[in-house]
Amino acid sequence: MPLRDAALSIRPRIKTEAITAARELKYRDFITVLLVVRGERIVDDTWIYVHDPKVRVGRIQIFNNWSPDLVPVPGVTCLGLEYFCNVGDELWAHSDAELIQLATNEIAQLGFVSHKAVEDGAVARMEKTYPVYDGNYETHVATVRQELERFANLQMIGRNGMHKYNNQDHAMLTGMLAAERLAGGTRDPWKVNTDAEYHESAPAEQAGRAIPRPIESGTT
Ligand SMILES: Cc1cc2nc3c(=O)[nH]c(=O)nc-3n(C[C@H](O)[C@H](O)[C@H](O)COP(=O)(O)OP(=O)(O)OC[C@H]3O[C@@H](n4cnc5c(N)ncnc54)[C@H](O)[C@@H]3O)c2cc1C
Repeated sequence: MPLRDAALSIRPRIKTEAITAARELKYRDFITVLLVVRGERIVDDTWIYVHDPKVRVGRIQIFNNWSPDLVPVPGVTCLGLEYFCNVGDELWAHSDAELIQLATNEIAQLGFVSHKAVEDGAVARMEKTYPVYDGNYETHVATVRQELERFANLQMIGRNGMHKYNNQDHAMLTGMLAAERLAGGTRDPWKVNTDAEYHESAPAEQAGRAIPRPIESGTT
């Protein structure tokens, strides 16, 4: 459960200072427009970041290249055009049909495939995909965390639960450490990912989530 929601839903109310801090925590939302296009192996990549100001798409997934089992239909490729947005903004307000049209136009504009190759489309909207790291988020997280730590039987875990830009494995590790803690362990789930560097091979409690880096680094 997102840290903000948890803090705001506890009754009786937690300290006003912590409520105010929780309200300041922000999230970024996300739309994936799936396009089914004719043809296989359009490119070799699994994902491509797009930095072209002429289009709104921010990243493209090529699901076949992640695993052929994701698209078990011969002769087609499933692309995921990812749009970073906020709930309620102009992009979010688009209908699914409009988003599919936008994605179709942009994939053609980028030169991947022509309009005519697009056979089908679908839209997936996801709220709170990213905890926002703005100038004050660390102070706000610390204030909320300190207040919630009064409850020995409450453990916050995961990406939004701790407002940390975690990978999946780190999010799971926080869950494991929280379970351990409830059973009497002493390792602290908040110590997972405390730094901003990425150390795939570091001991788990020191491992950190990457600050977004160029395409080849595997940021998510
Ligand atoms: C587009 C994208 C691509 C990514 N790619 C990768 C990748 O390739 N590799 C990788 O390691 N990580 C990747 N990540 C990160 C990874 O998805 C997250 O780190 C991981 O899912 C976090 O796990 P979690 O359990 O904290 O949260 P989630 O997986 O988000 O699970 C939280 C669950 O809690 C539910 N929930 C929320 N509020 C409540 C409530 N009030 N009551 C009940 N249920 C609630 C939600 O519906 C959700 O099901 C990606 C993330 C995004 C957004």
